[in-house]
Amino acid sequence: MKLNFENKVAVVTGAGSGIGRASALEFAHHGARVVIADIDTNGADETANLIDQQGGNALVVKVDVSNADEVEQMISTTIKEYGRIDFAHNNAGTEGRLESSRGTLGTTEDERDRLMGINLKGVWMCMRAEIPHMLKAGGGSIVNSGSISSLVGSTAGFVAYSASKSGILGLTRSAALEFASQGIRVNVVCPGYIETPLWQKYIDEDPTIKDTISQRQPIGRLGTAKEVAQAVAWLCSDASSLITGVALPLDGGFTAQ
Ligand code: NAD
Repeated sequence: MKLNFENKVAVVTGAGSGIGRASALEFAHHGARVVIADIDTNGADETANLIDQQGGNALVVKVDVSNADEVEQMISTTIKEYGRIDFAHNNAGTEGRLESSRGTLGTTEDERDRLMGINLKGVWMCMRAEIPHMLKAGGGSIVNSGSISSLVGSTAGFVAYSASKSGILGLTRSAALEFASQGIRVNVVCPGYIETPLWQKYIDEDPTIKDTISQRQPIGRLGTAKEVAQAVAWLCSDASSLITGVALPLDGGFTAQ
């Protein structure tokens, strides 16, 4: 489906890799100018180069989404360079490997705070910076990156991760209600097991992991970052104009079980 994002501006955090990169490419493919925001400027530059190669327009901004000043700076740079924000994919996140192996009892306070700062507070601070500009323009569409861990508990000890992603669901639904009458829609995508560098590092260490996690999804394979990106773009487009406050599983049936 070709969407018309001509004259639109999209901000994507975590756009230097995986799902965020695919989302940035998808927005650009439909004609939007895209802000590639990431803590990793090498990855962000690579994404911008890919957009250049497909004839699009991209701007790289370095940001740590857990830092309020840097988030404000990301949005003021966007307004300075592009003049508006129509779409935001608040996607930057971490799985917090250290905590994941330690579950409820072992996670350190520092590690939990770090993970919450990026995954949950980061999404809130991005929305806080983005929404005033959308209000001024009369509307906008925000998609946050949740997870199947927004919807079901983790059996693998991803305790803080699951709490952070469940928190995004609450943030999303509440913001959707708060701004529904002002033309701003807020939704959350809940990916299952998606083949990105996040998983690749574990698969490289133990190739059997790929089969194990593929079989957890009833469709019997991992999802692709592009499949998530297509849903994000659709949720930002007028084709989904009645949809706000929704958590959309992109999990090959995982949460239908
Ligand atoms: P990834 O590791 O490939 O990409 C994450 C990107 O976020 C990287 O470019 C990284 O530099 C950036 N980032 C990390 N911390 C940051 C910070 N503090 N400030 C700015 N940028 C930061 O991961 P991915 O698989 O593409 O995951 C993207 C999002 O999707 C995450 O929120 C993740 O939790 C979520 N998710 C992924 C999966 C999956 O299976 N891959 C499943 C469910 C949810």
